[in-house]
Amino acid sequence: MERQGILAVVSGFSGAGKGTLMKELLRRYDNYALSISATTRSPREGEVDGREYFFVSKERFQQMIEEGSLVEYAQYVNHYYGTPKEYVMRQMAQGKDVILEIEIQGALKVKKRFPEALLLFVTPPSAEELCRRLVGRGTETIEVINARLRRAAEEASGMEAYDYLLINDDIDRCVEEMHSLIQLQHRRTVYHLEFLNRMREELRHLDARGQQ
Ligand code: 5GP
Repeated sequence: MERQGILAVVSGFSGAGKGTLMKELLRRYDNYALSISATTRSPREGEVDGREYFFVSKERFQQMIEEGSLVEYAQYVNHYYGTPKEYVMRQMAQGKDVILEIEIQGALKVKKRFPEALLLFVTPPSAEELCRRLVGRGTETIEVINARLRRAAEEASGMEAYDYLLINDDIDRCVEEMHSLIQLQHRRTVYHLEFLNRMREELRHLDARGQQ
């Protein structure tokens, strides 16, 4: 039977360690495809266009919205971020489990458009730890860190919209939990409608034979 890919959305506060988790998940297992978003923010040191993000101008981003080539998009701390549609659809059709690492507004849009999508929320064990990681990363100015912490407080009010919560206090355990949750999705009835219909049909035939 053809295996259809799962669409998994991973969100979490900036500084929750999502990037490291994703890298580790992809390193350990080969059935995942990580969607690469388009963004209007500038690359951080070490980031490469087409690897972490497609870094685009505001005009190009606007054009992508108008062309309908984004699954979703959202504004986050003064910049736009969006998920290109083509890659996601193609990978899922090929049976890959596709991961979107996006913020909450985008996650909610995805859930509306794809109700069977799995929504995972990653958080550090405490707010204090979050702050420590953001400052320790050393890639943002204090203003940006503060804006991201304010945004984290806003996002915290929407955590219940997610299916599962992953507390990232141990990378190894967190990666394995994430993998198990995504793989379990493959057993959901919604991904086996063809099988269910065939089984129903066969049962009807058996019943009809029994009645003769
Ligand atoms: P960063 O600037 O730290 O790379 O990302 C900022 C936030 O934007 C993160 O919460 C990240 O998950 C989110 N993000 C990245 N790509 C997308 C996207 O395509 N759509 C949405 N809605 N959020 C995204």
